[in-house]
Amino acid sequence: VGSEMCIRDRHYAGVLSSIMKRHRISFHRERAEKGIKLLHTITAKLTTTIRPEELIPLIVESCHNLLPSSAIFFINKDEKKFEIFAERVPEDSGISMQIKQDFVVSNPFYSLISEEKKFLVIPQLKKDHLLYLPFNIKNAVSMFVLPLWYEHELMGLMVFASRNPDAYRTEQIEILRIYANQAAVALQNARLYKEIENLATSDGLTGLFNHRKFQEELDRELKRHERSGKPLCLCLCDIDFFKKINDTYGHPAGDAVLKRVAGIIKETVRSTDIPARYGGEEFAIILIETGLTEARNIAERLRKKVEACKFSYKGTVIRATLSIGIASFERSQKIPKGKLIENADRALYHAKHSGRNQTVLWNELEEQGP
Ligand code: GH3
Ligand code: MG
Ligand code: MG
Repeated sequence: VGSEMCIRDRHYAGVLSSIMKRHRISFHRERAEKGIKLLHTITAKLTTTIRPEELIPLIVESCHNLLPSSAIFFINKDEKKFEIFAERVPEDSGISMQIKQDFVVSNPFYSLISEEKKFLVIPQLKKDHLLYLPFNIKNAVSMFVLPLWYEHELMGLMVFASRNPDAYRTEQIEILRIYANQAAVALQNARLYKEIENLATSDGLTGLFNHRKFQEELDRELKRHERSGKPLCLCLCDIDFFKKINDTYGHPAGDAVLKRVAGIIKETVRSTDIPARYGGEEFAIILIETGLTEARNIAERLRKKVEACKFSYKGTVIRATLSIGIASFERSQKIPKGKLIENADRALYHAKHSGRNQTVLWNELEEQGP
């Protein structure tokens, strides 16, 4: 009887173990199916935008759906530096990150990633790791770094960090790697789109917005002004006797002066202002939320800087000055865009005809007209 019991027990144990095995397999299969379904959904989302500034947060958000408990950082690899572009950190994680190094190819972290083109899993972070990582990471115990490659170019890095050791499972990593390939293609498309957009909206010589883009921006700002009622000014700047500069020093020297003047304009205006190359040797600046007094100050600062600048071209020093006309859109006025430009142009004309190298406000002209 004793040996019969033993055989029966063994039989039951075998059945039980096979049931458990099947269960485990089906559990794994379910998890994998779930992962693939989610992968399908988040990959489809990659086509919803072509703008990098929207795409990167979307990638981070999608990865958050896959790994909700992770702190996620998207690190952009610029020409010379790493920078965090987007992050999604669960509130209670306490994890934070700071970039500590510029991007250098000799960085051991970078060579590790680029040699193998591989991801990096650190199940338990140690002091050594922290030395070669290009960022400081606080309170993380394990980490997973996923590079986004497009052909031979590193588009960015996704860093996943957890407060738990060994937090990343193989199948999660595999799914994220598939996603990373798709995301890298989407990023490359976004980058190309941006390049084409830049070509279409900027002026080839000076890098400022071109005339068409200027008109678009002015339309948009005027609509905003209508809603907010905040003042807005338009400056038109024209280089004085520019033809003479071309005639004396040659066209390439003229080009160099144009480029430098554009540079001075960029340095002088505030980051919210919108400078553009209006045409030939004329520049336009939209001064947002700016009244006339402030506009005049900015214009005068610009005019004086150009006056003081020693433009040099192949060893020759060239001097140039600017005439500037300003028109404004105040709260009580309802002037169409064409009229605003016309007013600024009239003020500029006045600056030219009363001696050049000066700033004139349309509102102060005697013959303002309707
Ligand atoms: P004013 O003080 O009245 O503005 O005189 P000006 O000589 O500056 O004005 P004018 O309109 O007679 O001449 C503008 C010159 O700018 C003529 C044109 O050849 C030159 N120009 C326009 N675009 C460019 C450019 O991209 N590069 C160079 N080098 N010259 C340009
Ligand atoms: Mg001109
Ligand atoms: Mg001119």
